[in-house]
Amino acid sequence: MTAGADVVVIGAGMTGVACAYYAARAGLRVTVVDRGGVAAGTTGAGEGNILVSDKPPGPELALARHSAELWRELGDAVGGAAIELERKGGLAVAATPAEHDALRAFAAGQRTAGVQACEVAAHDLPDYEPHLASDLAGGVHYPQDMQVHPMLAAAHLLRAARVAVLTGTRVVGLPRDAAGIRGVQTDRGLLPTRLVVNAAGVWAGEVASLADAPLPILPRRGFVLVTEPLPALIRHKVYAADYVANVGRGSADLRVSPVVEGTRAGTVLIGSTRERVGFDPAFPLRALRGLAAGAVRLFPVLASVSAIRAYRGFRPYSPDHLPVIGADPRVPGLHHAAGHEGAGIGLAPATGHAVAALLIGRPPRVDLRPFAPERLDVHL
Ligand SMILES: Cc1cc2nc3c(=O)[nH]c(=O)nc-3n(C[C@H](O)[C@H](O)[C@H](O)COP(=O)(O)OP(=O)(O)OC[C@H]3O[C@@H](n4cnc5c(N)ncnc54)[C@H](O)[C@@H]3O)c2cc1C
Repeated sequence: MTAGADVVVIGAGMTGVACAYYAARAGLRVTVVDRGGVAAGTTGAGEGNILVSDKPPGPELALARHSAELWRELGDAVGGAAIELERKGGLAVAATPAEHDALRAFAAGQRTAGVQACEVAAHDLPDYEPHLASDLAGGVHYPQDMQVHPMLAAAHLLRAARVAVLTGTRVVGLPRDAAGIRGVQTDRGLLPTRLVVNAAGVWAGEVASLADAPLPILPRRGFVLVTEPLPALIRHKVYAADYVANVGRGSADLRVSPVVEGTRAGTVLIGSTRERVGFDPAFPLRALRGLAAGAVRLFPVLASVSAIRAYRGFRPYSPDHLPVIGADPRVPGLHHAAGHEGAGIGLAPATGHAVAALLIGRPPRVDLRPFAPERLDVHL
């Protein structure tokens, strides 16, 4: 407990693991601390889409594009099969001609930012997905979208990082002196360090407040429905056009837009809902019914398939729906890597890569100014 680390990463979810991996590669001695196990938080409770398709041009897309590049490298480094990394591509589909026009306009904007987005006419949709509903108005194919198994990815990347890992260890204090952070106080002892990365996901606000540096990270609940294992029916990640609007919407009420994808195990994952209900652990039937109905609208063949389970997680979001990545100017040594909402798996490598650069005093590859903690001052 008393051995020194150059940096202590709080949180062994996908974000903390990616920070640890790139910090270790940058030559730092890293200790990762989690009060649970690896992927014990939201990383173990969501899906693993790695998407550029759902982001408009802007800072989050820049981060996503860098991340997609890094995920491909990581697939080679740790073994794509081991983490179920699939470069399967995404297909956004529209129910009406008006929705199709909106999708095409969105895709045209993304192309100017370097995203590959290919329009698909209604009559060509079956070539992409033979089991799609026959009355859809058209779609857009995104070949750069990928999928990964979040828990396997976190575990394998952590192993590849070769860092010290303390699970079952809760951070209870962030003691400071005149120079800034001087250690991480856990319920098992003190970890002396001058550098801390707060990657505590939806609990990052709680952790930041241990250093008297409030951070407005809040929970946005989501459910995923899982079907019985099936023969391969669905080739891409397929989602309805209104998904993008629901991701960006800040409203508290329940939003359901179907996102359907097959897995290596044969199960089909049906996401996803979004609602702001704090940490309410309930499983309301209407949310699960909404997911099932949305999936059947896209893939009528699913009507006769059984759902075997559902899981629930809390996406960590900030008031402007951008993650918080960077040094906290209020507390020298404290860095944040949190608040990635529904994109934390996809965005983890670029986040870790950027944080590692900051830790060793190098310029990050992606412009981090839009993610700076101090932008949230108005909400503190
Ligand atoms: C239904 C649903 C579907 C999703 N689908 C996708 C998707 O397809 N693609 C995608 O990119 N993202 C998706 N997400 C979002 C994604 O899961 C999250 O953005 C991501 O997992 C956040 O990872 P994290 O490492 O930042 O946080 P977490 O995984 O929550 O990790 C934080 C860790 O910090 C630990 N911790 C907290 N407090 C302390 C403390 N005091 N001391 C020690 N440890 C502490 C926790 O135990 C936890 O392990 C989805 C989320 C949900 C809920």
